[in-house]
Amino acid sequence: MNDTNAKAGLGPSGQSDAHRVLIVGGGVAGLDLAGTLAGHKELDVALIDLATAHVWKPMLHSIAAGTHDVARVGVPYLAQARQHGFLYHPGRATAVDLDARCVTVDAFDRDGLTLLPERHLPYDTLVLAVGSEANDFGVPGVADHARHIDTLHEAVAYRDATAPRLVQAAQAGRPHRVAIVGGGATGVQFAAELLQIADTVDDFGIDGARAAMQVTLLDKGDRLLVAFPPPVSAAARERLEQLGVTVRLNVDVARAEADALILKNGEEIAADFIVWAAGVRASPLAASLDALERGPASRIVIDAHCRTSRPEVFALGDCAALTPNGADTPLPPTAQVAFRQAVYLGRHLPAMIAGRSVPDFRYRDAGALVSLADYDAYGALGDFGFFKGGIKNGFFRGRLAQAGHALLYRRHQARLHGAPRAAGLWLSDVVTARTRPIEKLE
Ligand SMILES: Cc1cc2nc3c(=O)[nH]c(=O)nc-3n(C[C@H](O)[C@H](O)[C@H](O)COP(=O)(O)OP(=O)(O)OC[C@H]3O[C@@H](n4cnc5c(N)ncnc54)[C@H](O)[C@@H]3O)c2cc1C
Repeated sequence: MNDTNAKAGLGPSGQSDAHRVLIVGGGVAGLDLAGTLAGHKELDVALIDLATAHVWKPMLHSIAAGTHDVARVGVPYLAQARQHGFLYHPGRATAVDLDARCVTVDAFDRDGLTLLPERHLPYDTLVLAVGSEANDFGVPGVADHARHIDTLHEAVAYRDATAPRLVQAAQAGRPHRVAIVGGGATGVQFAAELLQIADTVDDFGIDGARAAMQVTLLDKGDRLLVAFPPPVSAAARERLEQLGVTVRLNVDVARAEADALILKNGEEIAADFIVWAAGVRASPLAASLDALERGPASRIVIDAHCRTSRPEVFALGDCAALTPNGADTPLPPTAQVAFRQAVYLGRHLPAMIAGRSVPDFRYRDAGALVSLADYDAYGALGDFGFFKGGIKNGFFRGRLAQAGHALLYRRHQARLHGAPRAAGLWLSDVVTARTRPIEKLE
């Protein structure tokens, strides 16, 4: 493969004799890492992403529901490249030649114009941070009839398809039926956001939206939010049911049809929209790399240095599987794990590249937060048991948990933009939310 197009990216270019670090995927993990590594003069850092703007993925369900304004959340990669000093290559990475140490990136087109041709980008060190996608587990009909909210494109498509239908149903006095498969954090949070957008529609005088909104949340297991302690599962279920969500546990979906889910017991759940949020698998690029050891859900197996079975190739975040010493299963695909691995590699990758020894990545579970829109939120305390004495049943809820959830996003913004700009953005979001709430209904 030739590398004649290697510099056909956008943004500042590094020294020609510097060590080339190529990061594929600018999500929670990859963009944070690119910004940190770009500060090292001995490294020439480049980032590939198929999108032109980064969106914090844990926000997608609120964009899909329409409760968050999409225009305010995108962070253009080009601006990040200029601010931090790395090269940005727009386009989809389609193949990795592990022997030639080269990544192929598709041509980058906009409105029928080819802005950048197919490129073959060489690397000395490769970091895979391509995330995950919804896993349909081969259930028939899901690919054709269910929607996912894994990308900004899917979230916006859901919002655009459903918002007018909700208004129409409210006007006609008909139900607007949404079936969500998967009672993890994504499904639970999405159910609450749907109720919230219906409340907002009512607030703007289009009466009947809340009455029309009928949400059914289904899961195979015997409780919601299995990653949280049982008291959180019970409290979240009770709150959702109070709000009007129908929660169905211990149900197995046999197939999805255009207007219904068919359960294995033959029962039919009628639905105008089906959302599949029942688990994830590694993104297609990671799943295609047969030369690297893979674990469950095609995630790339990594060691305690986030290194794959090829020493010059690292992986992190949802596409990687790291099983801590003494554990039976890999760390979960969460933003918390992705972020901590990015911080670890940001701190230690330059030393590893220079051949120095570094400490292992150690994961301390800082707890988890789940937010039921503006209605409620729950926080589990993870390994930080010292909070337990003061907090009922080992978890906290309400405004404190809601603030914690918001802080995760604000911390991410602070790392991308610096604390002063992040504070300005926060203030601007607060003001905008009060002055332009009608945008939520567009
Ligand atoms: C709706 C929703 C809600 C969630 N809520 C929470 C939550 O509350 N708390 C929590 O901890 N986690 C949550 N998660 C999970 C969390 O978003 C992920 O664990 C986290 O984003 C993983 O980070 P990552 O960097 O590995 O991948 P991502 O953030 O998904 O980034 C992957 C990047 O790779 C790019 N990419 C993929 N393939 C290619 C390719 N071939 N070429 C170029 N670029 C590519 C993508 O465009 C993307 O920018 C949620 C997920 C969803 C979908």
